[in-house]
Amino acid sequence: MALRFDFHAHIGPFDEDRRAEELIAMLDAHQLDRSVAFPSRGLHASPSMYSRANDYVADAMQRFPERISGFCSVNPWHRDEALAEFERGVRQLGLRGLKLHPPTQGFDVFNLDLMGPIMQLGGELNVPVAIHGGIREHDNPLRFGLLSEAYPDVKLVMLHSNFGGTDRVAIRWAAEHTRNLYFETSASSEPAFIEALAGWASPQRILYGSDWPWLPPRLMVAIVEYSGLHEEARQDILGRNAGRLMGVAS
Ligand SMILES: [Zn+2]
Repeated sequence: MALRFDFHAHIGPFDEDRRAEELIAMLDAHQLDRSVAFPSRGLHASPSMYSRANDYVADAMQRFPERISGFCSVNPWHRDEALAEFERGVRQLGLRGLKLHPPTQGFDVFNLDLMGPIMQLGGELNVPVAIHGGIREHDNPLRFGLLSEAYPDVKLVMLHSNFGGTDRVAIRWAAEHTRNLYFETSASSEPAFIEALAGWASPQRILYGSDWPWLPPRLMVAIVEYSGLHEEARQDILGRNAGRLMGVAS
């Protein structure tokens, strides 16, 4: 059985958060081997709340090393504090990437004044930078394409893939003009979009993700399974690509 790897789930230490044990139960219920875990809230939060959330995810990864690849989160507007926390998250806590959320953190993906130092550090730490990629101007696929062109050696992941390719022209341009930009599938509702994206980006740059607990994993897996892509491509998207990206054997 090929590796099944969910690239988008949330856990955290705050009252409204889901805990690591609940994530493991979800993975078991869906026959998923492994998940990326992002801190879920604290997105509007103070630097100390980010640290607490990142500590929680790192602890969860240590408790479930076979199941969880944890990412840290910071707010780019915290500037030097954000860079220090990103570095602490990877070097000291052992976290495996960075997650950012432009709508709640209020920044533009192609604001190089903020994003340049973060991308540079992502390159130095050699971990993926995953950013919510929605349908607003500030998180449109054009911004991701431009950012990826500016930092071609950094692995950049567009979460949600523009909510399933809402702006087809922009996402096609981003796919065709980059080689290190990855596309995560959560919140896509059209299987045919996954097939089109595979044609523009290659299936190897597409990562299945659910955005659990906000979206149901079974539905998000089905979008890939009904895409019309051949078996090998579907297995790549449902886990093997994430395994390669995260250094986990399939
Ligand atoms: Zn999410």
